[in-house]
Amino acid sequence: MAARLLSVVALLAMTTPSPVLQQEAFKLHLPLVDQLAGESPQAPVVALPDDPDATAADRQFIQRSYELARQAVKEGNSPFGAVLVVDGKIVAEYRNSVASSHDPTRHAELGLISTFYSKLGREAFRRGTLYASSEPCVMCIGAILNAGVLRVVYGTTEAQFQRIIGDQFGGHDKKGSLTSREIVARTNPTVRVLGPVLEKEGLAIHQSYWPKVIKTWGRG
Ligand SMILES: [Zn+2]
Repeated sequence: MAARLLSVVALLAMTTPSPVLQQEAFKLHLPLVDQLAGESPQAPVVALPDDPDATAADRQFIQRSYELARQAVKEGNSPFGAVLVVDGKIVAEYRNSVASSHDPTRHAELGLISTFYSKLGREAFRRGTLYASSEPCVMCIGAILNAGVLRVVYGTTEAQFQRIIGDQFGGHDKKGSLTSREIVARTNPTVRVLGPVLEKEGLAIHQSYWPKVIKTWGRG
């Protein structure tokens, strides 16, 4: 059901250049994310349309975060990347290094903040945009808020990611992932969160990675 609705929304967004209809299509996004949680694991994961407020520059930097995610895989880590952009220029990059560092806090976004905050200073984080290849997890959005970031853009939606990995990590409430927007709305609503952006490309990265990895855990 949700997959069919998603297809309609995606089709709406792709076939009409009207910004009004794009907005209308995107308004359906949040309830659709909720519906995703109830989808059968066998249902195809369909990419959501881009956040209508995302710019061409946002797409460019999300693409860079996807490149970092692919690079992380080559280094034996999970596919996540993050980029900090100030005044249109990349000033910091980080890719997931949890496996290679044996440190569960080395997510792309938190790694970027802890590596570069002291070098770049709070002002860079406040003025810049933090790009994450996937919607930041609870740990990372907490770090992002503490770093003073006011604008966050993500590639793939957490609910879509959860559908790809299933319940392999356990403990995830499929009835509704806690979204970055929800956390920000309840803690610091001045922070702007945009996404998804180029979700199809980001989902393809996850789809080519997680099923293989999960099989090595002997549970797939
Ligand atoms: Zn994280």
